Amino acid sequence: MSDFDADVIVIGGGIIGVAVAAALKGQSVLVIDSGSPKFGTSSANAGHIVVSHATPFAAPGMVGQGLRSLLARDGAFALSPRLPLSGLTWLARFTAHCTARNAETLTPGILSLLRNSATGVRTLGLPTSTYPIWEVFTGNGSRNRAAHEVEHMRGLGIDAAHIDPNLVSEAEPLLLPRNMSVVELREDFGVDPQLLWETLKATNEQATFLNNRTVTAIDPSADGVRVHLSSTTLNAPKLVIAAGAWTPDLTKLLGVSLPIIAAKGYSITVPDLATNVQHPMIFADEKFVVNPLDNSLRISARFELTRASDRTIDPKRIKHTYAQAKRVVTLPPLPDSLDSLSPWTGVRPASADGAPYIGPLKGMPNVVVAAGHGMTGTSSAMGTADLVARYIRGGSISTSELALTPNR
Ligand SMILES: Cc1cc2nc3c(=O)[nH]c(=O)nc-3n(C[C@H](O)[C@H](O)[C@H](O)COP(=O)(O)OP(=O)(O)OC[C@H]3O[C@@H](n4cnc5c(N)ncnc54)[C@H](O)[C@@H]3O)c2cc1C
Repeated sequence: MSDFDADVIVIGGGIIGVAVAAALKGQSVLVIDSGSPKFGTSSANAGHIVVSHATPFAAPGMVGQGLRSLLARDGAFALSPRLPLSGLTWLARFTAHCTARNAETLTPGILSLLRNSATGVRTLGLPTSTYPIWEVFTGNGSRNRAAHEVEHMRGLGIDAAHIDPNLVSEAEPLLLPRNMSVVELREDFGVDPQLLWETLKATNEQATFLNNRTVTAIDPSADGVRVHLSSTTLNAPKLVIAAGAWTPDLTKLLGVSLPIIAAKGYSITVPDLATNVQHPMIFADEKFVVNPLDNSLRISARFELTRASDRTIDPKRIKHTYAQAKRVVTLPPLPDSLDSLSPWTGVRPASADGAPYIGPLKGMPNVVVAAGHGMTGTSSAMGTADLVARYIRGGSISTSELALTPNR
């Protein structure tokens, strides 16, 4: 194969795709997106950079939590009527992966992605939250659960501390008193995810972005990869597939089935707040998160398994999320027009064992996958991109990073 169109082609222009393009600075990169990347899930998410989320989503206790949520009215975890049949296979695989062994195998690799990313984001010089993220436990047993969380974090080597209850209301006067226990996750912080995406997109001056292009076929060979679009064919020595929840559609073109399902989440953004909360926060019991952005407050919630094309916005969900938030945070009354809250949905690419798939596909050394980041794609984008760049340029890969291979 000769006359390459670029050094690397990336399919998918979400946060992972643009982070990969940025990490390949010095090389020419073509980023192809079937829509405009706004269609993906990277633009209006919660914007938490969470080193604390190093344990894979498939971990002991998750099946019980999921079942309780399914049985509860308005639970955070839900199955959409639009869920394709493959969703049931995914659920069975996820259930089988909720073991201590899965957590032990995958945590070190995830932690290294998250730490590298957090350091990377800090070096970009973007505005970040003034304070670290707080994880808030409410109701019965909140103190014990918070203590357990601190112990768990410290066991992983992550900096976390229990906040003196007397200091909580002083530091966050907008929190409503509800027998709260707060853990400060000291390595975690908030960013504006759209700003992070734009900054990474602008990093590599040799990156070109092609929107609204549909990939119809992929031909890998020993010296490169041909990517067929409806109107043309492009080729490069290396291809990166970073198409979020749509990644299985692309790997299917190569005969590879990757267990990634779309997990829809909602965000709303309360505008024009004269007084805002100070810390980005995770409400462990009410199952939503907040991030103060300028004079607005982003509130995000819900994990609904569905199909990747499902971007419907259910007004009931918006109202429920707002009501949940109002139970613990002082907010203005729900506005008459929900549009003023900029309701948004995104589909998290959720892998069946709760960790992203990063690395070349078996027997196809020129095709590298970077997908399946679930709830932490923004948090782990720069670490993922650094790992992808090492696969492409032939750098060293640690054992914990090898555990994230898509061939596991
Ligand atoms: C409500 C909500 C809150 C969240 N909060 C956080 C948070 O606080 N912190 C965090 O770390 N993560 C968070 N996430 C998760 C995070 O948003 C995702 O993990 C991340 O955006 C995934 O990025 P991606 O680049 O893999 O996928 P996407 O952003 O979905 O990008 C994939 C791109 O691929 C394109 N594409 C699809 N098919 C094709 C094709 N055939 N050809 C070419 N292009 C294609 C799509 O158009 C899209 O632009 C949240 C998600 C949601 C929904």
